[in-house]
Amino acid sequence: MRILSGREVRKRIFEEIKGGLEGREFGVMRIGDDPGSRYYLSGIRKNAEKLGVRLDVFEREKAAWEEIENKIEEWKRRNIPVLILQPVPGISPHEIYKIIPPELDVEGLHPWNMGLLLRGEAGIFPPTPQAVLEILSFYEIETKGKEVVIVGRSSVVGRPLSMMLLHKGTWDATVTVAHSRTRNLFEVTRRGDVVVVAAGSPMLLKREGVKEGACVIDVGINEVSGKVCGDVDFEDVKEKAGAITPVPGGVGSVTSILIFKNLLKIHEGIHGK
Ligand code: NAD
Repeated sequence: MRILSGREVRKRIFEEIKGGLEGREFGVMRIGDDPGSRYYLSGIRKNAEKLGVRLDVFEREKAAWEEIENKIEEWKRRNIPVLILQPVPGISPHEIYKIIPPELDVEGLHPWNMGLLLRGEAGIFPPTPQAVLEILSFYEIETKGKEVVIVGRSSVVGRPLSMMLLHKGTWDATVTVAHSRTRNLFEVTRRGDVVVVAAGSPMLLKREGVKEGACVIDVGINEVSGKVCGDVDFEDVKEKAGAITPVPGGVGSVTSILIFKNLLKIHEGIHGK
């Protein structure tokens, strides 16, 4: 069984983008007490420091819609690219992305960017599904004609990933998306040559849900008894899987650097470099 370290992938992407973002500004919003978003922000801070990016972090336990709107308006006026960490308690990401212009949307969640993704055109795409693809590509895991089962249909991870994996001429996968209403989940996941779990449910995937030799990608970031863990029961699954990503040190490590790759693309667009 191979451990697919995200840290190796991260290093390669870091080398690719370093030097390009010195002194650039980046607006990040985090509201509430979700452990995943806190963990995500700490990764962003570390990378920003290493890359010389000037972060403007708006972090609150609670925030009224008006405060959120005002801060986004300020970033818009200053032409600063924006990332909103999910979840924002009580507010749908779709509402927030309606007020962020697509050219400042670092996460690729504005309907315009999502439309480009759906059409298979180049654009700014969500970093988490991109991170899954970077890991598959780095470790040369074939998806062409293979069965890929994704657990989770959120617009941040599962849904865009399903679109990317269908892309003709690159990933060419046969994609199944399972979710909270899927019956007999493990029967479905057992079909996967690759299984990607993005459910936000600690230890959800067990060995019964894994085909012998399958590649298991764990997107989940959860906190249980103060420790970070994924959506895959790593110890249980590791003997059956052919390859598996750890948590921490897997998808999250790659996501946090891909945010900066998106940021670089945006800055190059805005400033016409
Ligand atoms: P979400 O809550 O928006 O969506 C979860 C999805 O999983 C839903 O579609 C739901 O139907 C499905 N689901 C939940 N429980 C299920 C179950 N028992 N069986 C089958 N399907 C189930 O979450 P999200 O924003 O997509 O995030 C998912 C996980 O990924 C979270 O743990 C989050 O912290 C993590 N995350 C990680 C990264 C990273 O870089 N590694 C980035 C973003 C999110």
